[in-house]
Amino acid sequence: MRAKRKMWGKIKVFPQKHPLALSLLLGVVGNLVWSIIQIGLNKVNFFEAFWQVPNAVFSFVVYLLTLNVPVWSVLLVIAVVILLFWFYIKITDKPQKNEPPYKDYLTDFYKGQKYRWRYYDNVIERLRPVCNECDGELAPDSLSGYNLICPNCDKQYRKPDVAELNLAMTYFINKANKKLKSPSK
Ligand SMILES: [Zn+2]
Repeated sequence: MRAKRKMWGKIKVFPQKHPLALSLLLGVVGNLVWSIIQIGLNKVNFFEAFWQVPNAVFSFVVYLLTLNVPVWSVLLVIAVVILLFWFYIKITDKPQKNEPPYKDYLTDFYKGQKYRWRYYDNVIERLRPVCNECDGELAPDSLSGYNLICPNCDKQYRKPDVAELNLAMTYFINKANKKLKSPSK
């Protein structure tokens, strides 16, 4: 489940991170689809169909070169196109939606117990009680198993059950959403 979410997250940011790779991929896939349609329509063989588009592009380039245009003007046009493409990527490269609702809100008290958590895809994850005194991580008390203990200051805590953890999580989510609506508070 976790690995699946992680992979989906990577797929979602792929177009922003690798626009050139995506263009290339789309080009190849588009050419394949075109080839398959050509095979069906015109009963040509696969290699003939596959090279139709690249051949057309190549012919066009040759045609451009045989026109009496200076090389520098062609290079200038290519440079301008690349520059425009780069600007387009920069402008559309908005902050990722993976930002947590309130990324600095990572710890808080619920019913006298301090909790800490992190975010994964806007979801609170690894919510656990921490030491009220020193902020340290808690470990199960070896004697009872129902208590938690802070090894740094020997303070004992009652281990919250699933229902309590759910309540605490909902409490923090509500607070995070409120902070998102009015970030100044
Ligand atoms: Zn402590």
